[in-house]
Amino acid sequence: MTVGTAKEQVTSQGELARLDVERVRQDFPILQRQVHGQPLVYLDNAATTQKPRAVIDALSRFYEGSNSNVHRGVHALSQEATDLFESARQKIGRFLNTRKAEEVILVRGTTEGLNLVAQSYARPRLKAGDQILISGMEHHSNIVPWQMVCQQTGAELKVAPINERGELIMEEFVKLLSAKTKVVSVVHVSNALGTVNPVRQIVELAHRVGAIAVLDGAQAVAHAPVDVRALDCDFYAFSGHKLYGPTGIGALYGRAELLEAMPPWQGGGDMIKSVTFAQTIYNDLPYKFEAGTPDVAGAVGLGAAIDYLQAVGIEQVAAHEADLLAYGTQLLSDMEGVRLIGTAAHKAGVLGFVVEGAHAHDVGTILDSLGIAVRTGHHCAQPVMDFFNLPATARASLAMYNRREELDALAEGLREVVKVFA
Ligand code: PMP
Repeated sequence: MTVGTAKEQVTSQGELARLDVERVRQDFPILQRQVHGQPLVYLDNAATTQKPRAVIDALSRFYEGSNSNVHRGVHALSQEATDLFESARQKIGRFLNTRKAEEVILVRGTTEGLNLVAQSYARPRLKAGDQILISGMEHHSNIVPWQMVCQQTGAELKVAPINERGELIMEEFVKLLSAKTKVVSVVHVSNALGTVNPVRQIVELAHRVGAIAVLDGAQAVAHAPVDVRALDCDFYAFSGHKLYGPTGIGALYGRAELLEAMPPWQGGGDMIKSVTFAQTIYNDLPYKFEAGTPDVAGAVGLGAAIDYLQAVGIEQVAAHEADLLAYGTQLLSDMEGVRLIGTAAHKAGVLGFVVEGAHAHDVGTILDSLGIAVRTGHHCAQPVMDFFNLPATARASLAMYNRREELDALAEGLREVVKVFA
């Protein structure tokens, strides 16, 4: 790997060293390619991040040298694959600061993690009269699983509103909390607006009324350190592919006492201790929640992604992205005809915007012709679009390998768009 060790990241004066973005870019092969004859400017990192060589190599190494199914074999390859798989779980546990590795359930991603909590924690417990509280800035994957549970149990979904800057209105959130609230589930960082929610405070408020606190960490884990013990949350879900890892793998952290008390949500191989037609004894944590052959290579790749991010230094990444966000915000705010959507006081690297008179898809298409990848649409957050009375926005989202020149290219591209639609 070409990045420095953690020790090298602190200068002799004890300051945080700046992220060497040019060096980091060398680690991402895809960044060398061109799109429509132009150098790729990849600003769609909230949808998925690109993968460093270390992750790509870990996947090939696994398939070339260690591929086997896990947990069920006495032969060498199966044991090797099991060790690699379980060491990925331990890395994730250390990365999130869980109390034990068994609190890490390997799932397909954030969506599956949230569905697991909805079906296995909430569905068996909730009844008519109970409430689930979410926020008005949730991704569909933190809305629909709760709507399903409400239909299944008779519980009611409550939504805490947001303001014009895209911030949760805390006084309203507090008003909606009561003894009826059994689950509070909130996004840590909004994918559509970039808002960073006061999640520590939200968890504490939820606990005060006896509710559990679930956090959607899809947009948070790659951008700032996350410590589930310090947050004191009960569940935390994230996706590997937004953390420089492969698609198809992610993790759900769950507090051990809660996971122990929950029934499995899927049945099959690996999640059992013994099966007869009369009775099945479920396996211990974490296997009780991992029915079937898991994405072994994916877990190995995710472990490599965490190693990579930690070697670069997550604090450096956060500082670098904060600098880019401030730079990009200034550029877009100064632009005639461009309006930023999502201007919270506390934001992560997401720049949502609209160009007056232009549909977001046309904005995206013109930018694409210049080699600039942004996302356009409702970003799986239709209620957010409804709140702002917009059909869609364009979104530039940042990662460790982005640089100021790419935001200049975006601004240059937007000047073209504004000219076309003026
Ligand atoms: N929550 C948020 C805030 C997201 O940004 C996303 C992905 N766009 C998800 C949940 C769902 O993640 P996945 O599709 O990887 O399950």
